[in-house]
Amino acid sequence: MPADRIRHVALSSVTLPLANPVSDAKVLTGRQKPMTEIAFLFAEIATHDGQRGTGFGYSKRAGGRAQYAHAKEVAEGLLGEDPSDIGRVYDKLLWAGASVGRSGVATQALAAIDVALWDLKARRAGLPLAKLLGSYRDEVRTYNTSGGFLHAPIEEVKERASASLQAGIGGIKIKVGQPDTKADLRRLAAVREHIGDDVPLMVDANQQWDRATALRFGRAVEEFGLVWIEEPLDAYDAEGHARLAEALDTPIATGEMLSSVAEHVRLIEARAADVIQPDAPRVGGITSFLRLATLADHAGLDLAPHFAMEIHLHLAAAYPREAWVEHFEWLNPLFEERLETRGGRMVVPDRPGLGFTLSEQCRRWTVERVEYGKA
Ligand SMILES: [Mg+2]
Repeated sequence: MPADRIRHVALSSVTLPLANPVSDAKVLTGRQKPMTEIAFLFAEIATHDGQRGTGFGYSKRAGGRAQYAHAKEVAEGLLGEDPSDIGRVYDKLLWAGASVGRSGVATQALAAIDVALWDLKARRAGLPLAKLLGSYRDEVRTYNTSGGFLHAPIEEVKERASASLQAGIGGIKIKVGQPDTKADLRRLAAVREHIGDDVPLMVDANQQWDRATALRFGRAVEEFGLVWIEEPLDAYDAEGHARLAEALDTPIATGEMLSSVAEHVRLIEARAADVIQPDAPRVGGITSFLRLATLADHAGLDLAPHFAMEIHLHLAAAYPREAWVEHFEWLNPLFEERLETRGGRMVVPDRPGLGFTLSEQCRRWTVERVEYGKA
């Protein structure tokens, strides 16, 4: 049987507006402005046999335009390729941009394409991506992040925690890392009291503590029985994270800001986290994610991928250890379909591929689009 070939590629730059400006600790320490929108790069790939795949990557604040620009430079190289050969095709695009490296924007530009190729492969097989990869579970533990940001007054955080739990989401994460640590502790105590001792609870400092503050905070909150403390330190301080993980009973989670497999390898080898939090679009796609997930499992780490639940639900379902998926409803308007949560878990959709179709709203939010090959 002759191989099917890629005949058409479309890249779209889409700006998703957020309902309210969002602040985590990076805003309260003055390092960033509140986030008002997210830039998405969508890749849609079609073959001569009529197979289709859609993938996406993203950037919060600056960087989205650069991802789109780099993807445009290399996307034509997809035409005529066999979409089954994801590794080889990915390498080809990587070599085309070798001068700008194998991490960060360079590979994030390829992530949308890589995700589209995996989506296409699973769709063609008639399987959800999790099943194509080899699933360990059909539902994945899930926790909500979007209700616990620092711009929200504590009463709103409590209301949204209740709403999340009622919607079948199993855990609650709140943001900490403010310059005033006592304010963090007050919010944490209020949420723990509100949801009770049995609901899984996490905190996320978004890299805003120094080592001493992280250790003091970690010791002060051992009694809360947190599932993890996330990004207590600078994302690249592997040694500091390792010392913290050693000193505390509460597990340490980090990894969302890392932008390559190699950066994650350093984290894993330093024993810097109990829970690793890779982000497929940030590390260059599903191909890269699977490489580092294998290493993380081998090292005995738990997995809680960052953001983009539409992709990560499948990857978490295919991780050998019981994983968590992060619930964010922000991306809902981009797609026709919705993910189901029940009994604390998110259900892997039985639709082929990732199981998503771009919405009309997503088309309206498209700021630029380019196509290669024959539609
Ligand atoms: Mg985080």
